[in-house]
Amino acid sequence: MQPIQRIGLALFIVGLLAFVGTLTLSQYRLTDAVLTQTVKKEHLDLLRQATADMQGKTYPYSFGFVSDLKARINQLNEGYRQRKEWDKVIGDNYAFSIARAASTGFFPANSGWFFALSVLLGIVGALLYILPNRKKELNRAVPTVRNNGIFKNPATNGGWIGIIVGTFLIGFYVLLYFFPEYLTNWLILFDPLSRALNGQPASQWFVYGTLYTAAILVMGVRMLIKYRHNRYQQLRTVSVMFFQTCFAFLIPELLAFLHQPAIDLKNIWPLDYSFYFDYRIDEKIKAGTFGIFLLVWGTALWLIGVPVLTYFYGKRWYCSWVCGCGGLAETLGDPYRQLSDKRLVAWKIERVVVHSVLVFAVVMTLAVVYTYATGQSSLLGFLDSYSLRSTYGFWIGGLFSGVVGTGFYPLLGNRVWCRFGCPLAAYLGLVQRFKSRFRITTNGGQCISCGNCSAYCEMGIDVRWYAQRGQDIVRSSCVGCGVCSSVCPRGVLNLETADPSSRVLDPMPIILGNDGVHVRGV
Ligand code: SF4
Ligand code: SF4
Repeated sequence: MQPIQRIGLALFIVGLLAFVGTLTLSQYRLTDAVLTQTVKKEHLDLLRQATADMQGKTYPYSFGFVSDLKARINQLNEGYRQRKEWDKVIGDNYAFSIARAASTGFFPANSGWFFALSVLLGIVGALLYILPNRKKELNRAVPTVRNNGIFKNPATNGGWIGIIVGTFLIGFYVLLYFFPEYLTNWLILFDPLSRALNGQPASQWFVYGTLYTAAILVMGVRMLIKYRHNRYQQLRTVSVMFFQTCFAFLIPELLAFLHQPAIDLKNIWPLDYSFYFDYRIDEKIKAGTFGIFLLVWGTALWLIGVPVLTYFYGKRWYCSWVCGCGGLAETLGDPYRQLSDKRLVAWKIERVVVHSVLVFAVVMTLAVVYTYATGQSSLLGFLDSYSLRSTYGFWIGGLFSGVVGTGFYPLLGNRVWCRFGCPLAAYLGLVQRFKSRFRITTNGGQCISCGNCSAYCEMGIDVRWYAQRGQDIVRSSCVGCGVCSSVCPRGVLNLETADPSSRVLDPMPIILGNDGVHVRGV
């Protein structure tokens, strides 16, 4: 490691520790002004009474403050439940909004400085660590992809560093999705940026979106250096950086600034599983012509865009060039792609699980639309749309796509969600498998069975098995990342499109190689 890289690594770690440390920096003081500002009128007097003993007291940490507040709200709700006054039960997450507004002290007044000392310092440190590799890569006599030492490094072989990073990521996602009231200092940290972009204070999703985009951009630079000799890798990396920055981040912020539905125009149902939820349809209808355009656009994308584009290009047009989940997997997740499970049993589980999630998403959406159209919450007498959508949101939208999908990068590889959980990937995969021009062709005679392709396939496909037989790779899970082809030392693999009927799905009887003609079985 060069000295500048050591400095970069040190700065990154300092920035990360400072970022986590900011969670402890506020003090919390509940006042009547805080309650008036955050609590609905119908709950105000109730909460005033319930929290009377907390008012005027200063809490040094969010944990004690939030615990006390939750205990009082739970006590109120318990009383309502015992008296069966269900309509009075408080469902709002007041712990979150009150903790944020009650934050006081040196930190909230100086959040801009803390932003620079944590987030910006971390980004600068990461770039200082990555950029010197460019010089090293440019000086190499033979341009090629280097993965030296990747199976010996505890950060990338599922070792102790990977376990620490994975635990941190899982903890981050659990707090973000299920306990945001403990993260309010991060919202305060991002407030100035949020106000500059959309005129509103930061939400936890703004914090997440900004960090997500920063991770794709910084690690995208790393990808551009690592695959500098490969035009395909460079183009698709620039593509995911562009779509994440503009479509997933800046355009929704601009739309929010203009008081329009803040929608990610490339997020396609059923990946965007709440697209047809009542409040989102109402939001679009309320937005007039633009909202109707969004409704038509979102429907046309999955109904026409997905089958047509996947027919011509395979699922890679979305999974490896456009999608935000794919973008993060390809950039932040690139160091972990070799950890994907290649066993046959993993393939079997993958097929069952990913298609089950697709069926679940379709049934849930049908029930939700039925409820919206008829006002009846139950479809066919037993499918309750509200329970279906909350179950889907918790297990698939929160736990699977967030906690497992990204938190487990350093332990199970970078495409766990795309491979086992994404309903859109399942839909794209069905089109790719049965009606697409895309395939990976294999020049089998050139294959030396080194296994590089299988090792670095993030979707767990045993690419070598196909290459050895001279057989085209037509797999519904292949996201067309092209890394198998990039790491092949013999130029065996090629991502191609042609008439679907010309696919070579049986092993070639004759393999032409450098050593002459080999007839299988002779
Ligand atoms: S088979 Fe190749 S192109 Fe397809 S997902 Fe695996 S590495 Fe990427
Ligand atoms: S990387 Fe190339 S040479 Fe090595 S096993 Fe795969 S196809 Fe064969």
